[in-house]
Amino acid sequence: MQVLVWGIGYVGIVTAACLAQAGHHVIGIDMDSSKVEAVASGRSPFPEPGLDTLLRDTVAAGRLTACREGTALVGGADLSLVCVGTPGTQEGETYLGDLEAVAGAIGDGLRDATAFHTVVLRSTVFPGCTRQLLLPILEQRSLRRAGQDFGLAVNPEFLREGSAIEDFLSPPYVIVGAAEERSALGAEALYQGTKAALHRIGLEEAELLKMVNNAFHGLKIGFANEIGRLCEPLGLDSHAVMRLVCADTKLNLSPAYLRPGFPFGGSCLPKDLRALNFQADRLNVELPILEAILPSNACHLEGSLRRVRLLNLRSVGLLGLSFKPGTGDLRESPALEIACRLHAEGFQLRLFDPDIRWETLPQGVQDALRCRLPGIEQMLCSHIHTLVEESEALVVCQRRPEFRAVLQSLTETPRRPVLDLCE
Ligand code: NAD
Repeated sequence: MQVLVWGIGYVGIVTAACLAQAGHHVIGIDMDSSKVEAVASGRSPFPEPGLDTLLRDTVAAGRLTACREGTALVGGADLSLVCVGTPGTQEGETYLGDLEAVAGAIGDGLRDATAFHTVVLRSTVFPGCTRQLLLPILEQRSLRRAGQDFGLAVNPEFLREGSAIEDFLSPPYVIVGAAEERSALGAEALYQGTKAALHRIGLEEAELLKMVNNAFHGLKIGFANEIGRLCEPLGLDSHAVMRLVCADTKLNLSPAYLRPGFPFGGSCLPKDLRALNFQADRLNVELPILEAILPSNACHLEGSLRRVRLLNLRSVGLLGLSFKPGTGDLRESPALEIACRLHAEGFQLRLFDPDIRWETLPQGVQDALRCRLPGIEQMLCSHIHTLVEESEALVVCQRRPEFRAVLQSLTETPRRPVLDLCE
């Protein structure tokens, strides 16, 4: 393919060199003449393992060149990869001026293009930038329609400085965000032959993914450092602890607990987090990440309540009451807390949990429940169908296939509202 790489800074130059190595014909475009001269003469403008050799070989093979202006080249190229910087202010606002300038330059080039050209954003931006900023500039300047006359896609970059070439050649995956098929195919053509899994998602999801990945990496480092700080006054080996945290690939380094949904609860997570933060405070160790977890969970519960109120119906059936399916354990259960809060606000409640039978609960538990939620015995239904019949709205508080099956089998019209707080 004939590829234009707009912006040959860190990401652009590595991308350009690796694509040229893969057999594509690549032209790097940058207004910084020192970078253009460096690349055109086969040298890397900054240190990066392996990059000098890669540039020397691909430039010598005639598959990589560089220049300062790209508009006139658009008509002869299949694809534009936009790799300009998106620096942020201290407050976090992103400067998008370079992106706007490049979109204008590509748009001008698209006006006279006869072949289908796909514009692919590789820079990191917040969701909405491609559709709301780049697309209108490209369409206005080209007098063409995105998705019809030219392609528009997002292809975030996951390389790390210091191992950029290795990361480019063996990425965790290739992500292509697009609003329609033709744009996605245009971007995907670049990666024919790659071994990495290719995931096609929406434009905005692709934009967000890079930021979420970076946030997760920051969270991991911050978490490990907080454990390190906690271990220090205790005289404990934080590396031994974290090694074993990582060795648990069932619950720790795995997809477990990483699905957005319901707040957590139960007899362990809240209690142990409280204990950890309490002891850290005594030791004068600041753990802002660990301290933020329970408030974050409480904030999520408030959000769940807001979603129930927004249904605007006063008779609500809650499916699932214990903190986790299959346990019947009501200790620090978010579903029970939601029930208590809704009851206090005057909602009429019906409750169902396959693992809770009022008559089998110990006397002490019954007394405590009556105290927190007066009338709970009358609210509890012994069968899910009773709850469904007696509720105007259904609110799912546990992820259970049997709940889903019953809700999907509802055939009434109009269908009563179902709010799944676990999804
Ligand atoms: P950079 O600042 O090193 O390079 C940007 C280049 O764009 C510069 O050489 C600049 O001269 C050029 N440029 C600016 N305006 C231009 C224009 N109108 N026409 C042509 N060239 C222009 O940036 P970078 O580190 O390569 O990052 C690029 C994007 O990729 C950013 O959004 C960044 O967040 C993202 N990203 C960076 C990394 C990384 O490790 N550096 C990794 C993944 C993603």
